[in-house]
Amino acid sequence: MTTFALQKNPQPQSETVRNAILGAPVFGTQFTDHMAHIRFTEEQGWHNHEVVSYGPLALDPAAAVLHYAQEIFEGLKAYRHADGSVWTFRPDRNADRMNSSAARMALPPMDGDDFVDSLRALVEQDAAWVPTPKDDADEVSLYLRPFMISAERFLGLRPTQQADYYVIASPAAAYFSGGIKPVSIWLSQNLKRSGAGGTGFAKTGGNYAASTAAMIEASSKGCQQVMFTDAVDGTHLEELGGMNLMLVTSDGKLLTPPVSETILDGVTRRSVLDLASGLGLTPEERPITVEEWRTGAADGTIVEAFACGTAAAITPIGKLVTDDWTVDHGETPGETTMAMRRTLLDIQYGRAEAPEGWMV
Ligand code: PMP
Repeated sequence: MTTFALQKNPQPQSETVRNAILGAPVFGTQFTDHMAHIRFTEEQGWHNHEVVSYGPLALDPAAAVLHYAQEIFEGLKAYRHADGSVWTFRPDRNADRMNSSAARMALPPMDGDDFVDSLRALVEQDAAWVPTPKDDADEVSLYLRPFMISAERFLGLRPTQQADYYVIASPAAAYFSGGIKPVSIWLSQNLKRSGAGGTGFAKTGGNYAASTAAMIEASSKGCQQVMFTDAVDGTHLEELGGMNLMLVTSDGKLLTPPVSETILDGVTRRSVLDLASGLGLTPEERPITVEEWRTGAADGTIVEAFACGTAAAITPIGKLVTDDWTVDHGETPGETTMAMRRTLLDIQYGRAEAPEGWMV
């Protein structure tokens, strides 16, 4: 295991302030006392493993990340179990995805063990920041955000010769406070997030910047999320802005578009597919058209739809909205959706036995 040198924060938040934050976290706005850091240089490779005070970074104004967006990130959660221990969910998959993102963005690959050890080092130091669930319905966690930037002073394009990798952590409240409600999603027909040969499969900031206009459009249509379609002719379903799509059929199939160069390989997506047979479902990864969802929902062959991702685990989809038509799955979350949700959360929160190697 890699050791991370510790430079303790001399001014950590007081216990009173920390408890106030943990009592009502506002996702992504409050951070723990420390961050993990590893530096890469062409000469030394990855070195200088450390845990330091959370705080602003010093970057050269010519740092490549600021000009050409050479940046990648990950997202996963630390969950506190009933015995007080703290666990992450399949972090090796985030490590693998980080490396496939790195390869696409000409950033250096990282050792998977270094990735997992960096999470361990930060969570160990800031363990008091991992919220304790009040009951089985309280889905609180500590969100972990590893990211890598090209910090090299160079106004040119090349594989970076200097990179910095950090992990920061933000306490997260239950995604659905006051009961789980199906969301409405807007079918984005004009704005696209990725195309063949592009960076859709990589978790890189630019994809999210490009999605934001579609989110704004969705929100102006009264929707909470965006469903992206392919960039060729918009006939096929791809994924949501930050979640993958699943459809449940009346004959027990669990359908999802295959991962490709335009779709992010979600850890939750993979896990839901792995858990499907245990719930009597047959997983099927194949291209799905918008028309198939529309007609299937109308003739009763597609009975439920949900989105899956780290943030909310599983989110029931109530409506798929366009200017001309709407698919309506109703106001009540589907039975299969809720059963899958429960199965996944029970594993993550340690209430059910996890498949070998899932909880770390
Ligand atoms: N698609 C996109 C575009 C995402 O940003 C995310 C969140 N990482 C997902 C899908 C779901 O991935 P995961 O289950 O690994 O969180």
